[in-house]
Amino acid sequence: MTLHDALRLLPKAELHCHFVSTMRASTLVELARRHGVGLRTDDLDALFAYEGLPDFLDVFNAAHAVLTTGDEIARVAYEGVEDAVRAGNLRYREYFVNPDNFRGVGIGYTSLVDAMTDGLVQAERDFGVGFRIVAAVNRALPAEAAVDLVETVAGHPRDVVVGIGMDDLTPEGTEDPLRFREAYALAARHGLRRTAHVGETTAASPRNVVDAIAELGVDRVDHGYRVVDDPAALATAAESGVPFVCTPVSTRMLSGWEFEPGHRIARMVRAGLPVALATDDAVFFRTDIGREYAEALPAMGFGFADAVGIARTGFEAAWCDGAQRDRLLADLRAAALALEGLALEGLAGE
Ligand SMILES: [Zn+2]
Repeated sequence: MTLHDALRLLPKAELHCHFVSTMRASTLVELARRHGVGLRTDDLDALFAYEGLPDFLDVFNAAHAVLTTGDEIARVAYEGVEDAVRAGNLRYREYFVNPDNFRGVGIGYTSLVDAMTDGLVQAERDFGVGFRIVAAVNRALPAEAAVDLVETVAGHPRDVVVGIGMDDLTPEGTEDPLRFREAYALAARHGLRRTAHVGETTAASPRNVVDAIAELGVDRVDHGYRVVDDPAALATAAESGVPFVCTPVSTRMLSGWEFEPGHRIARMVRAGLPVALATDDAVFFRTDIGREYAEALPAMGFGFADAVGIARTGFEAAWCDGAQRDRLLADLRAAALALEGLALEGLAGE
């Protein structure tokens, strides 16, 4: 067995993926045809090539229009787990979903999360993959819409919906985390967990990472790469112990950052930040959770033991209950021991 195979087979949690992006590419095309949704091209390579984050977001937002019924949402949820198990031994996942994007097809918040839950419960039965759902603040809408979202989540409690996060950018094309301060404070009062997309591209500021930690009180940060560009921000982040969920392939597609030891994610890991890996938008970036480990980590200079530490951070930072986390961590320990032996044998024989 090669290191590449061992990294793919390592059990993984994925804490940063947007629900619609877990859709199988063939299902996206099939549903677009069924509902007469015009994708900008039928050529998948061209469809999934972007000129930066705003261009990607146009395609991302358009894809929501192909999901028009609860059955379709449940199917996409189920297939997304099936694919990720095969591609990278996914064992647990948390999904961002932004209910505003489903308003156009007439699906409300409770119908949306209940349909997702139907598919994900079935997938949990068949593949043993646990899950939680995180409501995403649509940053393209005014701050009051984020407060409304938190009130909706709190007013329709579901065991599987555990917190809030973010998607999109503000209409000005910025992150502006403090615009959503009131929504995050309200989420805290309702006992919801909080994470925020900040410090993603060079257009963002390291300050946004500090603001998310210090002012929004987040339990996790999504992306956060720019934190390494400011020593004071990096020190604040390290001191906080807040985990970062990073998405390597997306950084290469949206920022042109090649996988090498100087990549910001590598610098975050070496600075001692707790880092987990995820796909962000698997179908749109032609990636999967296995590839995020197998392709990115060796090129950034990391070996199997580092990958096990990163996988462990994923389970430790998960917003599941303690007993489930303990089981997931025990499974990771057992699998890591077995894979380490096999990978070493394989590498010795090469
Ligand atoms: Zn994201």
